[in-house]
Amino acid sequence: MARLILLGTATAVPTPDRGPTSLAVEGEDGFVVVDCGENPLRHLARVGLAIERLRGLLLTHFHPDHVAGVAPFLQSLWLLRREEPLPIFGLREVLGQVWDLLSLFRWEGWEGMFPVEPMVVEPEVGARVAEIAGLRITAAPVDHSRPTLAFRFEAAGGGAAAYSADTAPCEPVVELARGADLLVHEATGDFPGHTTPAQAGQIARRAGVQRLVLVHYPPFPEHYDRWLEEARAAFKGPVSLGRDGDVYVW
Ligand SMILES: [Zn+2]
Repeated sequence: MARLILLGTATAVPTPDRGPTSLAVEGEDGFVVVDCGENPLRHLARVGLAIERLRGLLLTHFHPDHVAGVAPFLQSLWLLRREEPLPIFGLREVLGQVWDLLSLFRWEGWEGMFPVEPMVVEPEVGARVAEIAGLRITAAPVDHSRPTLAFRFEAAGGGAAAYSADTAPCEPVVELARGADLLVHEATGDFPGHTTPAQAGQIARRAGVQRLVLVHYPPFPEHYDRWLEEARAAFKGPVSLGRDGDVYVW
């Protein structure tokens, strides 16, 4: 059994109750955080994830609403006296940009800083990421305005979840999400490099997943019912608009 927890569900325009899209995925031996548009520490505390069980950070792409929280997150972990190394997984280019960003904070001078390890993921469908936290994690390159990875998480006891990241509808997500219990897909709308709720429903149907959760959707509550209807017209399984703090067991 594993859990996927939505730490944030917003686009780059947060609202009082929705922060930038970010997930925690928990296996039998800890959890990983996926994307870090803001420091996730208080969100993790709110959903009851003990920071000592953090095993890694996965980054989908280098847009501010997905990476701007990395530096303050690491600063918090340093001040909490973390000792365990923290691997950060992502595309080579993304890790390079993140390390450039961190260098501006002169973090090499943070006395007693724990090791932070850049772990390069290749841009291939099904690329191996890690076996960590009791999860087998793979990735696929998707179709966004910057190099971007989607991720798949397989629990030790069976079952899988996938996260599209920011992307236009694309085949690598269909392949990566194939047969998963849960697909978390972005639904920004009809913009280049993004997906509408109807298209997310089509991807979910084609991938044969059990359940679809939409995230990264704009803050227009007057449209929420229509977006759900559009996704449900394409996909017959359960569909929901994710909200910050939602927990899915799979
Ligand atoms: Zn983006």
